Amino acid sequence: MSENTHIHYRTCNLCEAMCGLEITYRNGEILSIKGDKEDPFSKGYICPKAVALQDVYCDPDRLRKPVRKTNNGWEEISWKNAFDLVESGLKDIQKKYGNDAIAIYQGNPSVHSIGMMLFSSTFFKALRTKNRFSATSVDQLPHHFASQFMFGHSFLLPVPDINRTQYFLVLGANPIASNGSIMSAAGMPEKINLLQARGGKMIVVDPRYTETALKADRHIFIKPGTDVFFLAAILHVFFNNGLTKQGHFPKWITGEEKLKGIFDRFSPERVAKITGIPAQTITTTAFEFSAASSAVCYGRIGVSTQQHGTLCQWLINLINIVTGNFDRPGGAMFSNPAIDVIKYSAPKGTMDKYNRWQSRVRRYPEFGGQLPVAALAEECLTPGDGQIKALVTSAGNPVLSTPNGRQLEMALTSLDFMVSIDIYINETTRFADIILPPTTGLETEHYDLAFHAIAVHNTAKYSPPLFAPSNGARHDWQIYKELTRRMKKHRTFVEKISDPFITPSRMLNHGLKKGLYNLNLRKLKKYPHGIDLGPLKPVFPESLYTPDKMLHLVPEIFVNGLRKISLDPTGNTNGSLSLIGRRHLRSNNSWMHNSLRLVKGPNRCTLMINPLDAEIRNICSGDPVTVTSANGEVVLPADVTEQLMPGVVSIPHGWGHNRSGIRLKTAKLHPGVSINDLTDHLFVDNISGNAAFSGVKVHVILAD
Ligand code: SF4
Repeated sequence: MSENTHIHYRTCNLCEAMCGLEITYRNGEILSIKGDKEDPFSKGYICPKAVALQDVYCDPDRLRKPVRKTNNGWEEISWKNAFDLVESGLKDIQKKYGNDAIAIYQGNPSVHSIGMMLFSSTFFKALRTKNRFSATSVDQLPHHFASQFMFGHSFLLPVPDINRTQYFLVLGANPIASNGSIMSAAGMPEKINLLQARGGKMIVVDPRYTETALKADRHIFIKPGTDVFFLAAILHVFFNNGLTKQGHFPKWITGEEKLKGIFDRFSPERVAKITGIPAQTITTTAFEFSAASSAVCYGRIGVSTQQHGTLCQWLINLINIVTGNFDRPGGAMFSNPAIDVIKYSAPKGTMDKYNRWQSRVRRYPEFGGQLPVAALAEECLTPGDGQIKALVTSAGNPVLSTPNGRQLEMALTSLDFMVSIDIYINETTRFADIILPPTTGLETEHYDLAFHAIAVHNTAKYSPPLFAPSNGARHDWQIYKELTRRMKKHRTFVEKISDPFITPSRMLNHGLKKGLYNLNLRKLKKYPHGIDLGPLKPVFPESLYTPDKMLHLVPEIFVNGLRKISLDPTGNTNGSLSLIGRRHLRSNNSWMHNSLRLVKGPNRCTLMINPLDAEIRNICSGDPVTVTSANGEVVLPADVTEQLMPGVVSIPHGWGHNRSGIRLKTAKLHPGVSINDLTDHLFVDNISGNAAFSGVKVHVILAD
């Protein structure tokens, strides 16, 4: 290695998997990005997306200075000018229409940045608006609902103890492509190999024969949107055959008596026609699950983004609990992170807030201070008191990622003022008046506050910045601090004097010192690969946040929801097909599509369709097809494949860069189409209001 060549170790913050990276660089230029074999969490694993860190850092399309929209296009302006314009724009709206006229949307990358995690909420509080939205209600609100009502805190999220389980039942998730979601698990392929090598089994239930299904011991096709019936039928088999630990639950579990009879009507025979799964397969799965020495049921996006998403997450928890596979090795467990974000977000005994206010048009209940994003567009478009007139987006692209994106585009054109904190002029931020670009990835320090808390193994790791920010660039936390300073009405004396000293590092240090392991930042920095803090350990009943310190098996809101479910088969679909999304290993969200290395090769934005459905429509692979829903129409190439269940079609999410006015090279290369031009903002999870993307009815024909 030459004198000027150095190695930098850090955690990849592009997705939830927290892979350790070994980056070789010379004179500010990256020579290679490899997996860090000494990282105790990822042990050398990385996926092809890791190179995107370099691509985003070097990307000429990335904004490095604030820009303002003018009649002649975008104009670079100074930070001072940008902050002045944002302050006056937002204050004008507040004065004219009130605080709720400003809405906020926080995108998924926010949770991957320590700056945004620690500093954005004070700014949002300073705005004093009830119109707060985020990517949480795109695909994960049901998890939070289930956790809040059962365990007392929405962030107490169980994760499969994949490293020790003997039976892994997976629904609506593709961890081989994602490396876990609400289950940070870098290196899933090897974890599944090890599970099978120790005699364990993985069963995948999915309308698509996914990359994960390919490695499974059994794959079961299920009709989109019917997981609730499958899960209820599994519980039916448990209770009707004495396969539960009933009568032997720990003392901190309450509600056992309420379980009586609630699954009686969901017999495998009745559910078979609805789900498309033979009764015998359901029964076998239930018996296998209960007989395994340890087992865990896990359901993710495909399960959460449906009409009964919250009920699904509740039933998944029940399956794990009633079989004794909860909070114990090999089952569903909770991590023991070095910084306990839950402890900081709510004192014990104070359950998260729910339904303190509702959205104006459809009356969706607030949850944890947020409203479902499916309501955002209508709140902008519907005139009347409380109408949204301005929007602040933070690291988000809701035009591509939320249901009925075309309606949201219309809504954004109707706004009086819009600010985006973002590194790109993309499908959403092109509507902004001002864009404030933060530093990104390699220029920032990093600690995974959120993902250590949902990891399958306990570790801690701090990553220093690799490169200094370019001249005058600001970190996201500096942007938020300045915005808070300008928008906050009253500041306490303590806030005023301590403000310059509050930095992410200081807050991290504080969190580590207060944590379980007697750590501090200085100590952590001595371990550039991270520290191994051991396997997951049981946490209950001590970690229960319910006021009565009990785990509630049967919250009223869920059992009422279950009672309302009709067991009628879906009936006549008039030749329509059920649309589901998908994710590829080389893609995560829309913003990663600007890495040429990741998008090169064959077009991956295709309509996957089963040969039976293709044949009756005279469709062959490669043919352009028109897909129509109640809300829109897209044209894309067909991919005829038996990987899709008959009656189901699939389009990957995050594409659709064929809009005007965006400054992304992929707009020309591989624009693809947006699945959310077809999805429906009115189709939501009945309980949480989470968008229901799975099972949207579409018609498919050969394009003209
Ligand atoms: S799976 Fe890929 S994108 Fe995700 S953290 Fe690992 S290297 Fe990064």
